[in-house]
Amino acid sequence: MPYLTQLADVARRTGHPVTEVSGWKRRGHGPQPEVQGIVCHHTAGPAGGGDYPSLGVVRDGRPGLDGPLSHFGLGRSGRIYVIAAGRCWHNAPSTSPRHDNSSSLGIEAENNGRQPWPQVQLDAYRSLCAELCREFGLPAARVRAHREVNTSKPDPHSIDMTEFRAAVAALVNGAPAPDSWTEEIMKELPVIRPGDDNFDVKTVRGCLFARGHVPPTAYAEVEEGLAGWLESTRCDDGLVALVRSFQQAKGLPDDGLVGPQTWAPLLRV
Ligand SMILES: [Zn+2]
Repeated sequence: MPYLTQLADVARRTGHPVTEVSGWKRRGHGPQPEVQGIVCHHTAGPAGGGDYPSLGVVRDGRPGLDGPLSHFGLGRSGRIYVIAAGRCWHNAPSTSPRHDNSSSLGIEAENNGRQPWPQVQLDAYRSLCAELCREFGLPAARVRAHREVNTSKPDPHSIDMTEFRAAVAALVNGAPAPDSWTEEIMKELPVIRPGDDNFDVKTVRGCLFARGHVPPTAYAEVEEGLAGWLESTRCDDGLVALVRSFQQAKGLPDDGLVGPQTWAPLLRV
């Protein structure tokens, strides 16, 4: 993949204002090898200082880390700054092979890590992710918070990524958000954690089996075999491992927890 000189045009499709930062088409740590994912960040810059006070840092880097740090900046006003067309140092080490520096695009949104997000900035954030998904043929599930693909990072703060991705998906598909009753049902479902022991664990087992994600080796050692395995109410290590591999197959964070994001494909709603 060459330098991504189409990024400014993609950004303009959001309808939000775009600033092409001088030299962006040749800026990068070499060309961008591929685009498999999108990583959302906050700058942790100053609380004030205008629309995008972190521009200099994101473009030029900081002591110990050369710029560019991300392809895009996102100002408080919803203005999109196109900073680099090549590879950027925005996520290393990555827990996801689709979200490392060679495989993903970075967006650094101006926020000091505590202040509330202006609605117009959030709107632009979702729209930019949606247009990038369209451009590179990615599902909304490939849009991740930095904190979801790097265990030592907190950003972007306070954004519910399940809701964020649902909004991106709706924009990509040009369709309204999922029916509210479906969302309500999903909110009512319990979160199943490693070590839990209750009847909802049996539902997880039954769904995993129905979706073809329980290999015979999983119940080979269990008394009564598959029937005994399906009856167990314990969320043991073996089940957690199967949940993780199911999450990986669905492009979800493989945290081993069965929450709303994981229930949805398990129940096929
Ligand atoms: Zn970050």
